[in-house]
Amino acid sequence: MKTLFERSVSGRHCTILPACDVPEVTPAEQREEALHLPELSETDISRHYTELAKQTFGVNDGFYPLGSCTMKYNPKINEETASLPGFAQIHPLQDHADSCLEVLHLAETYLCEITGMDAMTFQPAAGAHGEMTGLMLIKRYHELNGHPERNKIIVPDSAHGTNPASSAMCGFTVINIPSAEDGCVDLEKLREAVGEDTAGLMLTNPNTLGIFDKNIKEITKIVHEAGGLCYYDGANLNAVMGVVRPGDTGFDCIHLNLHKSFSAPHGGGGPGSGPVGCKSFLEPYLPGERVIEKDGAYAFEERDERSIGSIRSFHGNFLVVVKALTYLIMLGKEGVPEVAHNAVLNANYLKHKLEGVYDTVNKGVCMHEFVLTLEELKKENGVSAMDIAKALQDEGIHPPTMYFPLNVHEALMVEPTETESKETLDQAAEAFLKVMREAKENPEQMHDTPHHSPISRPDEVTAARHPVLRHHFDDQAS
Ligand SMILES: *Cc1c(COP(=O)(O)O)cnc(C)c1O
Repeated sequence: MKTLFERSVSGRHCTILPACDVPEVTPAEQREEALHLPELSETDISRHYTELAKQTFGVNDGFYPLGSCTMKYNPKINEETASLPGFAQIHPLQDHADSCLEVLHLAETYLCEITGMDAMTFQPAAGAHGEMTGLMLIKRYHELNGHPERNKIIVPDSAHGTNPASSAMCGFTVINIPSAEDGCVDLEKLREAVGEDTAGLMLTNPNTLGIFDKNIKEITKIVHEAGGLCYYDGANLNAVMGVVRPGDTGFDCIHLNLHKSFSAPHGGGGPGSGPVGCKSFLEPYLPGERVIEKDGAYAFEERDERSIGSIRSFHGNFLVVVKALTYLIMLGKEGVPEVAHNAVLNANYLKHKLEGVYDTVNKGVCMHEFVLTLEELKKENGVSAMDIAKALQDEGIHPPTMYFPLNVHEALMVEPTETESKETLDQAAEAFLKVMREAKENPEQMHDTPHHSPISRPDEVTAARHPVLRHHFDDQAS
């Protein structure tokens, strides 16, 4: 497929641009060379983007069981509220933005209620950004309480990959501890790991095996008794929201992914929102300004020098917060736990249908996702997790997450969204079973799947190592 630049024909144009409403610059201010812009008609542009849209796969195309990523249905009403001019066209420095302050205040109130926290910042632009913010709170806490030597963060091996990365980014030393047989944190190993240099622990829960750690209260107790703080990776709160509150199980701070659990669309790089909630003793360290309510009026409360400072401009990706709040209001108090129940039900239903044919890593009940291992199949038939994932594309299914978590060989991580119907899950199970039959009968045929996609197997190594991100013009130095 040609790029817009390759389709460009000198002098061709369309008339969809509105009239210029800013003063034109003087010749002295003009650039010397003309800007290389593609010159196209409106039809060319429409066809180009329609063709691109046909080559992708999104939640509106079909089943999208991408584990850990929570590819939610994105309610269309979210887009409507987020495009109301009072939200979409406001500037953060504008006065009389009461409705926007109310959105931030209400979202904070609801999300604190759901997580069991006392205060929240909406500055972080994504989950990993939230992790870093939360860790900065922990660091600040120890520094201001006379314990700068607490510089180690304990991260179980079943954590999401961003947890150790964020800890390292924040200047902490990462202490990795292995899981016990049952996939939960090994309490003995945790007891050995904590000490006077422990800053805290980061727990991804449910963990990357889709398991809710049954010892969660014991874990936070061990860390607290050693003087550390407890961080909850709540990116996948959709599995527990409205059922368990991390704040009630001993956690001091948490981040949420509004672009996963709270239905804002994601993929393609954003925009995301990773608000960080904390208990009141950490509140003074939060970044940004906090919205407070007094007699029905909203105002910003300045922070003092204890704050970690701004980690992003203003209030983060505000419109993502508008979408998440819309979703919460639509769900209501009864709807929030229903999401969690259905997420767990759907995952267990699909897991049950695949058991016996696929090796599941989670033997008992899973939470919102489960992990398959294709290790045996690879040994016997040479068919890999990648081959199975690619073959699923021919069945109209987006591949599950591949080769993650890292502690499982030939892993496929499956998360069926809670809004999927029984019919869709049944069809998906049929597709998984069909692909496995083909893998056993015709293993050779699996290596060049998918056969019906616009692109079959891109060269991922070259794409990652030598990405071509801009068009090269003939008259331009390289
Ligand atoms: C997705 C995810 C993250 C990271 O979130 P980003 O928005 O991609 O930075 C962290 N932890 C868990 C458990 C996740 O699923």
